[in-house]
Amino acid sequence: MSSRLYGFDTRHNHVAEETPWVERAADDALLLVPLAQVCRTLNAGGSRTTSGGLWHATTLRRVLIHPAIAGLERKGDNLVKAEWDAIIAPDKHHALVRLFTDPARTPGASYDYMLTSGGSECSECRSWMGARPSNSGRASYSCRAEGCKKVRISASLLEQYMGEHVLAELVKPETAGRLAAARRTLEAEAQALRATLVLIETQEAEAGTEYAARRLSMVTMKEIARGLQAQRKPVKARLRFLDSILNTEPNIGSDPVKWWNKNASVAARRTVTLLLVERVIVHPASAQGVHSVEPGRVSILWRSLGSRQGN
Ligand SMILES: [Zn+2]
Repeated sequence: MSSRLYGFDTRHNHVAEETPWVERAADDALLLVPLAQVCRTLNAGGSRTTSGGLWHATTLRRVLIHPAIAGLERKGDNLVKAEWDAIIAPDKHHALVRLFTDPARTPGASYDYMLTSGGSECSECRSWMGARPSNSGRASYSCRAEGCKKVRISASLLEQYMGEHVLAELVKPETAGRLAAARRTLEAEAQALRATLVLIETQEAEAGTEYAARRLSMVTMKEIARGLQAQRKPVKARLRFLDSILNTEPNIGSDPVKWWNKNASVAARRTVTLLLVERVIVHPASAQGVHSVEPGRVSILWRSLGSRQGN
């Protein structure tokens, strides 16, 4: 871990190799370039965080909204001019803070989706359904795949349906053992994926080193970076999904019905649901505006005995 902020040394002098990247990232972010894409630009260009790692959106966001890069520091409740030189103008700093803390930028953030992205899939194209508001602003799960987008279901409808079925399992005495076994399986999978990510980052860093030593052309280096990026994307998506399940350890107690209906947080319900259920497949509704889960609309694939014995 390093105690300095990117762009500065520990005495707040500018680090000449880093400040142009701060300016570039700030400008790109203000042009609404997605942070993940800004990170890719930085990584491909050889920029590394102060701890030597690759940029991720959360790390970059932290730098971009840090008042120090605008030559400001916090004194009590106020931001005052600091003794060091700014890398970006204070106006830009304020615009970045607004950008990254504006609730309007994350529509539907107030709705806590039980199934999260990846918790359900489209019957037509088998891609994950996204958890986000529909055009009318209603919390929904919908297929986002180009060329499909054929399935959408209201979040409350699907979650209530899932809740009824999961609760029917929770009241069975053997379910506690199933939950524990599923957690072990998913933890093992997450660990393997983390190892894969480390490997990809190592390869990326090596390509960067080779490029810096002029043993690789810019074109080749970029090609390698693109290839690794393509490998990383599905791994990270799956890991995010697994973490959304594993981050919570629900304490169900002796009365699952009371727990589910009264005490459980959405995160705890999500964990229990996705530990028990391998896949939730949603089929198109028979007509628009159907406000119930019709027979055959949702298929639940419970984690099988086979996968439970697999660890
Ligand atoms: Zn689809």
